[in-house]
Amino acid sequence: MPPKVHSTTYRTHTCGELRLSHAATTVTLCGWVFRIRPFGGMTFIDLRDRYGITQLVFNPQTDATLAEQAERLGREYIIQVTGQVVERSNKNPALPTGDVEVLVTRMQVLNASRTPPFTLEDQTDGGEELRMKFRYLDLRRRPLQQHLLQRHQVARAVREYLDGQGFVDIETPHLIKSTPEGARDFVVPSRLNPGQFYALPQSPQTFKQLLMVSGFDRYYQIVRCFRDEDLRQDRQPEFTQIDCEMAFVGREDVLQMFEHMVRHVFRRIRNLELTEFPRMSYAEAIRTYGTDKPDLRFGMTLHYLKDEYANLLGEHHFSVLDQAEVVAGISVPGAASFTRKQLDELTEFVRRPQIGAGGLITIRWQEDGSLKSSIDKYIAADTLLRYAEVLRARPGDLMLLIAGPASNTRRALSELRLELGRRLGLRSADDFRPLWVVDFPLLEYDAEQQRWAAMHHPFTSWHPDDDALLESDPARVRANAYDLVLNGVEIGGGSVRIHNRTDQMRMFRRLGLSEQEAEQKFGFILNAFEYGAPPHGGIAFGFDRFCSMIIANQEGIRDFIAFPKNNMGRDVMLDAPSDIDPELKKELGL
Ligand code: ASP
Repeated sequence: MPPKVHSTTYRTHTCGELRLSHAATTVTLCGWVFRIRPFGGMTFIDLRDRYGITQLVFNPQTDATLAEQAERLGREYIIQVTGQVVERSNKNPALPTGDVEVLVTRMQVLNASRTPPFTLEDQTDGGEELRMKFRYLDLRRRPLQQHLLQRHQVARAVREYLDGQGFVDIETPHLIKSTPEGARDFVVPSRLNPGQFYALPQSPQTFKQLLMVSGFDRYYQIVRCFRDEDLRQDRQPEFTQIDCEMAFVGREDVLQMFEHMVRHVFRRIRNLELTEFPRMSYAEAIRTYGTDKPDLRFGMTLHYLKDEYANLLGEHHFSVLDQAEVVAGISVPGAASFTRKQLDELTEFVRRPQIGAGGLITIRWQEDGSLKSSIDKYIAADTLLRYAEVLRARPGDLMLLIAGPASNTRRALSELRLELGRRLGLRSADDFRPLWVVDFPLLEYDAEQQRWAAMHHPFTSWHPDDDALLESDPARVRANAYDLVLNGVEIGGGSVRIHNRTDQMRMFRRLGLSEQEAEQKFGFILNAFEYGAPPHGGIAFGFDRFCSMIIANQEGIRDFIAFPKNNMGRDVMLDAPSDIDPELKKELGL
């Protein structure tokens, strides 16, 4: 590798480079004027670039005109300065360059700047939309710069690992025919084929499978995907995946391979050794945590007083419990001391429309052994004590119960558990708990459309033991699919695939496609399966989220994408989507 060259015709060093060892040398720097401070008759400027900040000093005693010029500079002017590096009397240990400053003897303004519409400090005063409109300025801020630099490092670590394992980076097309992954397609009108459309890929799913048929054996791509989904907080209509596929593998091979990839990335980026990647079935996750993406950083699991298997409610006079399909709860260690107000807040929380529980039953088990509940009127203390036993509570704990339809109740308890975890500081930003969730159901019933839909996608194979159920009892068929969950966030998912025409046709039939429809939509892959398709499987990681989780242990991805879209799927900087030229519209036959 040729040596790294820092200096160019414009500069000898960067703003993050100078140390005491450079003292007495003459340097030329380029950068943005970050802060200007007059002090003791002199002007001090913090000059900033991607690499750091260097303090510049303009002394009117050395050059009065230059000092005056410096005073008149505005924030974000971009300048080139030459001067001598000297040791600072007043060192700044917070800056790597804090031991030195540059006594400027020459300056050139490379370009002026209007006053930025918000401050470019780490904590800015700009609102979301304004910052998005001026994204190029927002991206000058250190936290965003750091995120994108680290994102680059994550991509490098991923490539380093996958390259090392013999994966081949192969590009797949963006103008394709629809690949069903459960979302709507973005479409592109074809001028040369009037009235016809390409679809943008929701993922390279079918292509990567075809590459296995071609014999590439191990494929990956860090690739843009497009899904026209209903807007949810922090969903991006275009996003990036680490998309992978392997031939001659079963589930265990895939899990091992990618567990090691995640370990490798954590080592590289965080210098952290992840201890274990436990496995949990979908059914267990739903039952114990109320969600298929449990956050394992803390306990507070769900316990059931009533469900499809048992009714442990006992004697009571509270009809809400009898009418409920499920009565379940969590016990919050040491929270019996919560105030009335705190309990009211929790009740409000579960009643919010997004969560939708009817109410919250609270039972405080005081340290002195007495019980105080919101349903004292209806349920005697000894019955409550038995509830406490089921909920594995102890004196000093707070028990929270929800009664209602099974899936709502589980979801509400899951949200409540996360909220309490957050309030009690149990979701530590330094703690990383990966989890493989396995044995997903293959199919889910779409009540609206009155048909079965693939839970993952229609190329996922099923558990061989459940083969006979595909036609007779579809709800019970387990998929050969897996998700990787990290601290309650799904970061990846995949499956072992169907690789023969017969099973693929069975699946399409199960999904309600006729022979002709299947042939018309998926003929290419059905045909490919007839030419020696190897057993294969794979996975895709949502790269934006992968980065946000590894770098900052946070779910929000926007600050890890250079040019994201807003909650309405708009690029507010470009003002897209927008109308197109009527001429063009006509040409496209729209
Ligand atoms: N294509 C799938 C997805 O985007 C991932 C996979 O099955 O590999 O979710």
